Amino acid sequence: MEVVPASNASLIVVDVQRDFCPGGSLAVPHGDEVISPLNRVIESFAKANLPIFFTRDWHPSNHCSFEDQGGIWPVHCVQGTPGAEFHKGLLVPKRATIIDKATEANREAYSGFDGTDLADRLKKLGATTVFLGGLATDYCVKETSLGALREGLEVNLMLDCVRGVDVHERAIPKVPFECWCNGVFGFRVRRQQWISSIARSNEIIILTLRASPVRPSKHAARRKQSRTTFDIYSF
Ligand SMILES: [Zn+2]
Repeated sequence: MEVVPASNASLIVVDVQRDFCPGGSLAVPHGDEVISPLNRVIESFAKANLPIFFTRDWHPSNHCSFEDQGGIWPVHCVQGTPGAEFHKGLLVPKRATIIDKATEANREAYSGFDGTDLADRLKKLGATTVFLGGLATDYCVKETSLGALREGLEVNLMLDCVRGVDVHERAIPKVPFECWCNGVFGFRVRRQQWISSIARSNEIIILTLRASPVRPSKHAARRKQSRTTFDIYSF
């Protein structure tokens, strides 16, 4: 069964660039494993004529995140260099929109919403829900997901389509879900048992995040910021 996302859905593919894949200067372990499941999703969205966005890290050569500039990362994704190109296995439809981020020397941006027009573009499209995958789970995917939630969008995080810098993250969904979500998103997830049973199927597992109003009390602020549910899509 093929599930076509609703017409209010957009796809955001985060930073599937050569430098973040094996052989690149800031390779995410098994980063290239996201390409095959992502291509299936990209094809589904393209066939359904739904909006597709590709974010890319697009740094000047003296970017503040680089070690030689006092940052924490090796030089990566410098504008116009081979390392900044999308992985050659990634399907990038002609009509897709490319969003460049962290383009200023003195400003880091992990989120595709940070310093870009992505939120405006989605608003104009009337998007209420985004499907999200790419690299790396614990940095740009996480921050882009949180950015989307802040914009009031529902986020469908495609767990087969993400890999993390921390090697433990790539074991999703084999690691206990509660630990993973607590570590990466800072909220609790139940129904772990159910998740480990669907993890055996070949379908794409989606973690659905929705921002819920937080009551203005000390305790509420510490509690989860978003509700989570799980859906399975077959692309
Ligand atoms: Zn970067």
